[in-house]
Amino acid sequence: MAGRGHGWYRGDCHVHSVASDGGELTPGQLAASARVLGLDFLATTEHKSADTHGAWGQHVGDDLLVILGEEVTTRSGHWLALGLPPGQVVDWRYGVRDGMVGRYLDQVHRADGLCVAAHPHAPYASGTFMYPYQGFDVVEVWNGPWSSDLPWQADNEVALAEWGRSLAADIHQGQWRPAMGNSDTHLEDQLGVPHTVVLAEELSTYAVLAGIRAGRSWVAESAAVELSFTVSAGGHSAGIGERLKAGDEPALVRVGVRGVPSGIVTFHTEQGRVHRASLPDSGSGVVEWRTSADESAFVRVEVRHPIGQMAALSNPIVLT
Ligand SMILES: [Zn+2]
Ligand SMILES: [Zn+2]
Repeated sequence: MAGRGHGWYRGDCHVHSVASDGGELTPGQLAASARVLGLDFLATTEHKSADTHGAWGQHVGDDLLVILGEEVTTRSGHWLALGLPPGQVVDWRYGVRDGMVGRYLDQVHRADGLCVAAHPHAPYASGTFMYPYQGFDVVEVWNGPWSSDLPWQADNEVALAEWGRSLAADIHQGQWRPAMGNSDTHLEDQLGVPHTVVLAEELSTYAVLAGIRAGRSWVAESAAVELSFTVSAGGHSAGIGERLKAGDEPALVRVGVRGVPSGIVTFHTEQGRVHRASLPDSGSGVVEWRTSADESAFVRVEVRHPIGQMAALSNPIVLT
């Protein structure tokens, strides 16, 4: 069994090498950086190509998984195909008005792969995601640095607000679409900012994608940030992405954070932001809040730096 068995694994699922336009790093350099940064996995997602899948084999090991993928750069939005069979390419030559994206989502799903709507609010032509989210498994609400002045920087704040709003109705209908975060690395010093931390049975493509698909994950600005998040009621407890049968019992929401000095922890439900607390200068602390299934259909967490930049965000815990 690869990795440490059942546990939390950190990884970056949107990574370009020299094989993509604007990419400056080789697979070997990216794999070495991933190890230094404390990542357990990455996904290779070159633009419109699966030609370099074979270049990664010599760089993987029990401590580093490489998930084979592609960034499918269509005329009206980009999406990540994760978990492709080696060398399998997904066509990108269409836009939303062609009505063709569904067949390519099916192609990826038939291979047990995952379809991720990438940087939905990227501010350049064809980078803005114009498809309905229907058929996509996950939304990349956090792409690259949380915010910057770079002209191609995705508007993560808008992507998060849109996802947060859809969550309330989707959970009510019994099926919600998890969030993830990736660096979209092209250059040095971009890898892992941010990355997704996933609860998986082992360090394998199948297990990691299953955890992401189920929303058993949170997004970290860097490996210096740690988050634990549970809700408990009536002697039972649930973690991120899970469902807690709370019934009429009072529910205790509990978040532990490390690595965010003077950070701001907020809890969000279908009523919006319902609780706010500050972390001490040390950056470590525990925040608790009481609610019920009657009051909150779900709870999710954001941790921000004092200036407002995101340090961590979680998928929801669902209460019934
Ligand atoms: Zn893109
Ligand atoms: Zn990209």
